Amino acid sequence: MEEQAILDAVRALALAHPEVAFTVEIEGRTRARWERADRFARAVAVLGGDAADYREGRAMHEGVSVWGVFALPTHTHRDASKVFWLVNGRPIRDRMLLSALRRAYQDVMLSERFPIAVVCIEMDPAAVDVNVHPAKREVRFARPAAVRQAVVQAALEAIGQGGAHAASALADDAVRLLAPRSSPSASAPVAPRSMAPEPLAVEEPQAAWAFARPHPFGRPLGQVQKRYIVTETTDGLLLIDPHAVHERILYERGKALLAQSGSFPAQRLLAPHHWRPDAEAHAWLKAHAKDLARFGILLAEDEDGWRILGVPALLAGQEAPERIVEGWVQAAIAVGDVPSSEQGPRIWRKWFADRACKAATTFGRAMTMEEIEALLAQMAETPNIAQCNHGRPTYVRLGLKELERLFARG
Ligand SMILES: [Zn+2]
Repeated sequence: MEEQAILDAVRALALAHPEVAFTVEIEGRTRARWERADRFARAVAVLGGDAADYREGRAMHEGVSVWGVFALPTHTHRDASKVFWLVNGRPIRDRMLLSALRRAYQDVMLSERFPIAVVCIEMDPAAVDVNVHPAKREVRFARPAAVRQAVVQAALEAIGQGGAHAASALADDAVRLLAPRSSPSASAPVAPRSMAPEPLAVEEPQAAWAFARPHPFGRPLGQVQKRYIVTETTDGLLLIDPHAVHERILYERGKALLAQSGSFPAQRLLAPHHWRPDAEAHAWLKAHAKDLARFGILLAEDEDGWRILGVPALLAGQEAPERIVEGWVQAAIAVGDVPSSEQGPRIWRKWFADRACKAATTFGRAMTMEEIEALLAQMAETPNIAQCNHGRPTYVRLGLKELERLFARG
């Protein structure tokens, strides 16, 4: 326990002073060692793992300056122990800041997981009270909302930069799963990768196949078990889950529509669907059915329930009309009682979060090569494409290095 406290203290110093090398020896054993580095490399060394799995984020908000190193959304931890906070160089803990950080990751990360990050906050020392807690680990901010806002902005910047990149830890997991148990490579320590983030881009289109422009997600080879797409990149292959990709594309389209117009266009159903909601939904609809029209949901009450006349065009054909509407009503009830256009994005996020990952139209369906190419092209244009809205990865990249480890050549 004491040992842990020592390590924690030195770790905080190491984060605040990357220009100094640190070695922690406890009873003759080296417990930690950090070489001199720039602050990004030092943060990665303290957090652990591959530099390619981290991005920097910066923000300046009402006199609060934030710089941080944030893990990709598919590189996560089981608890908050890998989130480090420094305020003017001093290590702190703050539950509100932690929940703000988790909120920044909320539609790109598995809900039960935690981010991995180092967050450095600089501000006027007069605006932060460090004498709240005897050990001075807790502080009180004069304007906590401004600090939270700056942290969220910095995290979102990092997530935006890294949103198309799947964590390299996924490839390590894949190799561990696939490699024969007896193979020495399965238990051998993973060699540290190069510190430079690797670009996903294909450098030159191949002669037998070319997109109109260079394609970041590779040359499609085909589909495995009517499900996973395999593509070849310049340095290996990608295994792509088209369902998870489709989920992210749909989610981002909805977000963009709501941001542009605050509404979803409706698609009228050829034949209205009769629907009997539960008592709570029915009572809510009595008051609010008309408010749902701006979200493309057209309803009319009849003797023993409702007729669904239209659903959001975006979702038409994705799921049964009553499932779309039922989910939307439940999401609207959860978000608040008057569904206004400002609440659209929150209702949409909730609707999508509650929707099971497996409710896929592309699940278990053979795709044509044209469909695969169209999907890859959409992937290239969609934000946060490396994970579905639930935080599951959309692809795993196996580079030559991982393939060589699989075949015990590494
Ligand atoms: Zn999902």
